[in-house]
Parts: sequence; structure tokens; C-alpha cells
Amino acid sequence: MPSMEFPTWMICLFLFLIGCCVGSFLNVVIWRLPLCGQKTTFRGVEGRLTLNWPPSHCPVCHAGVRWNRNIPVLSWLVLRGRCAACQTPISIRYPLVELGTGLIFAALYLAYFVAGWYGHIFHSIAYGGPTLALDMFYAAALLAAAGIDADWFEIPWLIPVLIVAAALAGVPFGRQPMLASLAPASTPGRLAAGGAAGLLVSIVLLYWRLLPQSFPPETLPAESPDMPDPPEFQPPVAFSRNWPFLLAGGIILLLTAGAWIVLSPPTASLVTLIAGIVLFLIGVLPRTIQSDDNLAEQVLDEAEAPCARREILKELLFLLPPISLALLALTIPTPLPPTPWCGRILGIIFGGLCGGGVIWLIRIGGTLLFGRVAMGMGDVHLMVAIGAVAGGLPAIVVVFLAAFLALLWAVVLKIMGRPNVLPFGPWLSIAGILILLIGQPILHWYGSLLFPR
Ligand SMILES: [Zn+2]
Repeated sequence: MPSMEFPTWMICLFLFLIGCCVGSFLNVVIWRLPLCGQKTTFRGVEGRLTLNWPPSHCPVCHAGVRWNRNIPVLSWLVLRGRCAACQTPISIRYPLVELGTGLIFAALYLAYFVAGWYGHIFHSIAYGGPTLALDMFYAAALLAAAGIDADWFEIPWLIPVLIVAAALAGVPFGRQPMLASLAPASTPGRLAAGGAAGLLVSIVLLYWRLLPQSFPPETLPAESPDMPDPPEFQPPVAFSRNWPFLLAGGIILLLTAGAWIVLSPPTASLVTLIAGIVLFLIGVLPRTIQSDDNLAEQVLDEAEAPCARREILKELLFLLPPISLALLALTIPTPLPPTPWCGRILGIIFGGLCGGGVIWLIRIGGTLLFGRVAMGMGDVHLMVAIGAVAGGLPAIVVVFLAAFLALLWAVVLKIMGRPNVLPFGPWLSIAGILILLIGQPILHWYGSLLFPR
């Protein structure tokens, strides 16, 4: 067991508690972000739903939640998972998401500052702090995307945009350990510069309607006259029995504690990260299992749109300027200054283009091959964000890792006899968090296979 000195221990506990509070906020975001703007009535006042209106309340008796009943994890345990006023069960998702986020935050700190992942880059919080802050924000945003995609089969574009913005905001501070800074004259640097220029051209052309929009709203089956009503303002399902979840949570916490006694600090911090992710998934995924079949059917209908092949060809048109400008940039000298900040921005762009590009190619290839929409644009946006933070090659590892995790989940659903309708976003998000630690070891290992010494 590592000798955890007082300050390290304190910081770890502090970040764990911060994580629990962030998890509490994520519960609100996962439930409300897709419903923002929807009309609702609360205590006789009609208004539009936002992240903070109406205030937290019991969906049955409308009793407000007092501050001392709003403490992450503990309040749920003290109230034994029931509303204090009317005894309506409160979903165990809330404490599990809070606990999971807390563990993930603590795990990232332990991995970077105690266990020495990435060598001992981070011996002081002043040096490693910005990277830790970016990665905690990245992990929290990915958890929100995972939860929303599990519930609604969609990823609000705001989440990837915030992640990319955070990555760019981190450019002046510290060094993102995974993201190689790219020289503007290097091949990936030139591809990134040209690709970004081409992407801007495509976006402007799309805005001016000189490029056709793929799946314009009027051709979507969801817009047909017999379109189902928009989903209702419903809290996460509360289960009749909580003890299996509590038992699983307790075992996971015990195993995590045991890992710090038995295993080396790097492995133990990875175990802690995985434990946080598993707790989060236990809280979020059962909703998909129980989920209303209407939503699942609607998603299947959309995927089997008769025009899918024709529509996807329009996306190839959109990709034409970025690809051609990226290739053009290889032949002409880039006029960009060879400064560190420029190199980091190019690294972020290259990562984003790789991540988004891989999923987009799978989407286009799969749809042309099978005649049904293979992957959502939400997944493409999410992978742009993951690539921007994690880097180009790790982003490609994320896609394979996510496919493996999704396959495991498909087997679980099969065993449980549930319909095999699962969004890919949660698995991309989870793999995107895992890659923060295992990305470089995987790439080193794979590199040593390809180029043995
Ligand atoms: Zn109540």
C-alpha cells in the first residue's frame, strides 16, 4: 500500500467529494438536458423546463428537497431511497451516479499524482493541475453523454462542443500527456491544418445551402403525421428491490479497497477508475433494459429509413472539401508558425479529425453496405471531442474498445432476453475515459508487435 501522506489523502478525499457533487449535477443534466425547453407546470406555475427550474422536487407529491436532504449518496441512504414526505421510491440511479463520478475523479488524481502513470510528470499539483482539471471535465461530460444516450438514443451537440472548447482552453496551460504536439510542417500537422480549412469550407457551404443537408427534417420518418408524442417529463425508474444494486455496489467498493492493499498503485488506480465506471453503468443502464419499447422502435424505424443510402451520399459531398484540402496541404508548405501553442492546437484538430473521421467512415460504409443507418451523427460528434482530448491514435483505439464493450453488453442483453437495441454512445464514452490511462500502454504494446526490436 502506498504511503499516503496527509496532503495527498486530503486532496484525494476532496476530489472524491467534488466528484460526488458533480455526479449529483450530472443526474440533473442526464434527466433534463434533452427535455430543456419543454413546457411543464410546477405548483400552478407554467413555464419551460431548464436545468434549474423547476427546483428539485418529488415527482409525486411535489415536496421540495431541503439542502440537508440534498447531500450526494448520504441523503439517499439516510432516506432509504424514499421521498421524505410521501415515501415514493427514489431511483438508486442517483447515488450510484454520484458515487461513480466521485470514484472516477479520485482515480484520475491517484493515477496521475500517486501511481505515476505517464512517468512522474505530475509531482506537483501546480504543474499537473490543469491536465487533471481538463480530464475531470472531459470524464464528467462523457458520463453525461453516456447517460443521455442510454436514455434517449441521442447526444446533445452541446456536450462535444464543450469538450472541444475545454481542450482548446487548456492549450496555454500545462501539457496534455497523451496529445503529441504536432509541428505544422509534419505530415499529421499538415493534414490537420488542411482538413480544418476544408471543414470550415464545408460548414459555410452547408450554411449557404450550396451543399445538400443529409436527412433534412422533412424526410425523417419521425416527422411523419403518425409521429409519437414527445417523451414525457419522467424521472428515472425506481426499482422495487434495491438490495441487488446495494450488494453489487458494496462488493465493488470492497474490491477497490482490496486492490490498493494487494496490487501495485498503477493497477490499483486503474481498478478504481473501472470501479467508478461500473457503478455509473449499473445506475444508468437498467433504464435502457426497462426502457419503453416505443422509443426503441422509433430508433429502429429511423435506422431503416428507405432513403438511407441516397441520403448518406450527401455526407460524402460534405467530406469532399476537408479530404481534398488535407491532401492539398501535403503538397504545399504550411504557413503556420512553429510555436508550441500552434502545435497543440494542431494536435487537438488532428485528434478530432481522426476520431470523428473513423466513426463517420463506419457510418457511411455501413449504411451503403447494409442500406440502414449504421451509426448516428451524435456518435461522430462525440468521437471528435474524444479525439480532441485523447489524440488521434488513442481515438481509434477507443472505437475498437467501445465495440468490444458493446458486444459484451449485447451478450448480457441476450442472456436476459431483452431486445438488442443499444446506443453506441455510452460505450464510446466509457472507452474514452478508460483511454486516459490505458491509451499509451496499448499503443506501446501494439507498436512493439508491429515493430519488434
Ligand atoms: Zn414525495
